[in-house]
Amino acid sequence: MNIADKAIRKIVIVGGGTAGWMTAAPLALKLGEACEIVLVESPEIGTVGVGEATLPSIRYYNLTLGIDGVDFVKKTQATFKLGIDFKDWGHLGNRFFHGFGDFGPMMENRSPHMYWLRLAREFQDMPSYEQWSTATAMARRNRFLPPYGDQPAASNAFSYAFHFDAGLYALYLRDYAERHGVQRVEGMVCDVEQNPETGFITAVKLRDGRRLEGDLFIDCSGFRGLLIEGVYQAGYDDWSAMLPCNSAQAVPCARVEPLTPYTTSTARSAGWTWRIPLQHRTGNGHVYCDGFTSDAEASRVLLDGLDAAALGEPRQLRFTTGRRRKTWVKNCVAIGLSSGFLEPLESTSINFIENAVGWLIENFPDRDFRPELADEFNRLVSARYEHVRDFIILHYKVTNRSDSEFWRYCANMPIPDRLRHQIDVFRETGRVVIYEDKAFMVPSHVSMLMGLGVMPKAYDPLVDLVDLRTLQAHFAKVRDSITRTVDAMPDHAQYIARHVAAPPL
Ligand code: FAD
Repeated sequence: MNIADKAIRKIVIVGGGTAGWMTAAPLALKLGEACEIVLVESPEIGTVGVGEATLPSIRYYNLTLGIDGVDFVKKTQATFKLGIDFKDWGHLGNRFFHGFGDFGPMMENRSPHMYWLRLAREFQDMPSYEQWSTATAMARRNRFLPPYGDQPAASNAFSYAFHFDAGLYALYLRDYAERHGVQRVEGMVCDVEQNPETGFITAVKLRDGRRLEGDLFIDCSGFRGLLIEGVYQAGYDDWSAMLPCNSAQAVPCARVEPLTPYTTSTARSAGWTWRIPLQHRTGNGHVYCDGFTSDAEASRVLLDGLDAAALGEPRQLRFTTGRRRKTWVKNCVAIGLSSGFLEPLESTSINFIENAVGWLIENFPDRDFRPELADEFNRLVSARYEHVRDFIILHYKVTNRSDSEFWRYCANMPIPDRLRHQIDVFRETGRVVIYEDKAFMVPSHVSMLMGLGVMPKAYDPLVDLVDLRTLQAHFAKVRDSITRTVDAMPDHAQYIARHVAAPPL
């Protein structure tokens, strides 16, 4: 038997939410006619359908599929996202921006915040470090233009992502996947057949008696983890002691002006609310811990904070923050909510899906399913979950809020040692410890830590090697260039109206 004889011939994806279609599309593109792909979904069960804010990596995901950017924005009612505006997180009245980009250019291979720390120590009237972030300057003035220019400059010192309608995005990818040969089946999976010797799944059975056979099964069935938990009891690490929010309510309202090129996250007495502007409406939600407030009170807080009348009743969601212990077992791989869930504070779930599909393609098995491939996939997924978990815990832990039982709990809750180390190193030295590449990097940690009020006691002594006046002049020049660049940019709403306006639904 040669290697080709062992190739995966048929993949069955269970679930047609964002994860199911985001998995089907790149697999169909990659495998083409070499492999049959079937996706089964049950309209009776429906999807979560609230993932509307993304990270810049979504652009590379779309690009890999060859998706036309303008067409995508129009068909998903998307707007542009430069980062997240955090309100009331460090203390009541506190406001800062976590933007996609750094606080000025690197100097001598050192992070610009180190030089800013030195200047802030020398000059009492030093403006906030946020003024050296192009993304923040654009956000504060509701401006948008995609990055441009080949040489490092204010005009390309930022990145961007999208806010989109999750339902429309799933439909968009469904259309793409079906055009690339994916077969969609409507039906309710109610049973599974396994090889009695190996334990591998051989088929899923639908309630109407149909059977879908396959070599590889991808579990995109959402929180329930139909295959990964239902069949393989992969286990779940529950992280709710460190991330206590376990409930959410979501409700849209009409679009209002200005159309902000960012997500807003406002801390509340038992959690936080989000505001996500789309072209046709604004998405809103309240993430909270039901041990510290009631659903009725959470709903009142959500509705009171809307910009316009709610378009319907708030939708209730429950979750347990954590991670599936293994997301690849035998011939089953879990992607999306079936693999775990971290609350949407940094819009990371869709990014997890992008990563998981990419890692599956990098570690694509044949029918031997060598366990080392599963081990490697599980290692990558676990490490990323832990990295993002710590970053999100940071938002709650490093706060001076003590005005409610919830915030007092957060101030006192235990946190992972690695996060404690990260906070201590930053507080004492200004250095950012990065455990995992290609996720939240130095500028993100600086935004959050300094935004929440952790001002380092010291800075890298090597930045003293630069002459102070030269440094001051350099910072003034960079800031001036950011101001001039942003002055020349159009308003976000104007940019959308001119270039990517979606047709009314
Ligand atoms: P689901 O949407 O639950 O889809 C599950 C699919 O499985 C459905 O098609 C269902 O029909 C099918 N299914 C289940 N059981 C069966 C069965 N027995 N037979 C057949 N089919 C079955 N992510 C972000 O990146 N950004 C955000 O801003 C964001 N906000 C969020 C806010 C909240 C409150 C929540 C809860 C999540 C948020 N997410 C966000 C996460 C995002 O919504 C999910 O990652 C994304 O929707 C993927 O969901 P999914 O496809 O895994 O599951």
